[in-house]
Amino acid sequence: MISPFIEVIDAQQFGLPRTGAVYLIRGSGSILIESGTAASVATIRDSLGNLSPEYIFLTHVHLDHAGGAGHLAGAYPQAKIVVHERGCRHLVDPTRLIEGVRSASPDLFPKYGEPIAVSEHQLLPVTGGEIFDLGKNVQLEVIAAPGHAPHHICLFERNSRTLFTGDAVGNWDNPVDVPLTVPPRFDLDQGLETLGTLKRLRPSQLAFTHFGIANHALAQLDRYKGELIDWFEDLRRLSRRLLPAEIIDQILSQPKYASLPRIKRDMVAMCIRGALLSLETGSA
Ligand SMILES: [Zn+2]
Repeated sequence: MISPFIEVIDAQQFGLPRTGAVYLIRGSGSILIESGTAASVATIRDSLGNLSPEYIFLTHVHLDHAGGAGHLAGAYPQAKIVVHERGCRHLVDPTRLIEGVRSASPDLFPKYGEPIAVSEHQLLPVTGGEIFDLGKNVQLEVIAAPGHAPHHICLFERNSRTLFTGDAVGNWDNPVDVPLTVPPRFDLDQGLETLGTLKRLRPSQLAFTHFGIANHALAQLDRYKGELIDWFEDLRRLSRRLLPAEIIDQILSQPKYASLPRIKRDMVAMCIRGALLSLETGSA
């Protein structure tokens, strides 16, 4: 328990504990942050019991955060699905997201489950700056947070000063400790600028999707900034003499990754591929 009105639901992403979180916030009604994957929907619905969320906020449309949105929208027809306006079309038609994951990580793909479309009338597009008053002094502010994806948002709960980071601040307490530079659109400059924006909010705790709550929020934001800079420096250096597949092999042969389950190694590889792609396309 972080604050009496915020709960972490372990979505059992890819069938693994403490890998993907969905947050439940209770004001006068209840809301969710993230939907989890399509494969996590039953877990989320079980955790909600007879609660029926009014809003489901998605930090971005990648399938580990939003893959279950269509299923949850169907189960809770009065719920609004809140997402950056640039992400809306991918929820109405998830074909490109599905194809993106199938080609970027064919091994992980089956673990996501099958997303379905969100019907347009349930979508509530945002761009950043909106404030949702949830009653009982709980207020959620939408923060534009591009970098991990151009349409990424974070959510800031003003009463507890909890910042829901999505993938903007990487992973926490997770053996996949590389920066979340996944394909296809990671942008280093935007990612670093976003960390500055998040710091100016002066959050007191960070609520990570992967996974859980961290205190010392400002120190964590600085830590991630340093990690991102070092990560790109290392990959830029390696890419001068090695092919992408060789870079992936070299990083995965480090002892801390060698002992990880295959699925976590695949996640590290995906972050390496995304960073190399953004070096290639000039977004780093
Ligand atoms: Zn993610």
